[in-house]
Amino acid sequence: MRTQSSFEFPVSLIKHYLYCPRIPYFVLVLGFKERTTELMINGREKHSKVLKKMKSNGWNVNAFLKSEKYNIYGYVDAFRKEENGYAVMELKDTNYKKRILKIHLYQAAAYGLLVEENFGRVYKLIVKYNDKEICKPFTRGIKNYVVSIINKIHRIHEIGLVSIKIDKSKCYNCGFRNRCKEI
Ligand code: SF4
Repeated sequence: MRTQSSFEFPVSLIKHYLYCPRIPYFVLVLGFKERTTELMINGREKHSKVLKKMKSNGWNVNAFLKSEKYNIYGYVDAFRKEENGYAVMELKDTNYKKRILKIHLYQAAAYGLLVEENFGRVYKLIVKYNDKEICKPFTRGIKNYVVSIINKIHRIHEIGLVSIKIDKSKCYNCGFRNRCKEI
C-alpha cells in the first residue's frame, strides 16, 4: 500500500515513534532536535569500526536509500544478497533486552522496505546486539505493521498529534525530556 503523503521523513522516526509517539511530533511539527550525548558520539565510532569489518565480509554497509513508495529514507547499516534474497542487518551498541526488541525490529523492517524497493526481495531481518543476534523472517505481518507506523507518522505531520497514552517509565531516558516539559 503506497502512502498518500508526498512528505519524506527519516527511518529513525519510526524508532522514535515506537518509543513515544510524541517524538515525531516534536521533530516534524515543532522542529526540535534530540540532544547528542557523549554515549552517542562514542557509539558512532564503534559502529563505524564494526561496519568496516562487515564490508570486508561482503556486506553493503552504511548505504543511503530512499523509498518513493513510502516516502522514507535512511542509512541502512548493512545488507547483502544471499541464496533466498537479501538479509538486512541493524546494529545496536547495547545488550539485548526483550522490551526494546520491538523498536529495533521495526526500524530494521523499515530498512527492509528500502532495500526491497531498491534492490529486491528481503527475506531476513537481523538485529545485532553486543551479546546476541536476533533473526526474523521479513513476513507480510511485519511489513504491514511497519507500513501502518509510517502512515501514522505521515498523519502526525499532516494533522498534528492526536491524544496518545504516554508510558511515563520511558521519560527518564528520553532524549527529548527537557523539551517535553516545555509543552
Ligand atoms: S519525555 Fe516522555 S512523554 Fe516526553 S517525549 Fe519523551 S518519552 Fe514521550
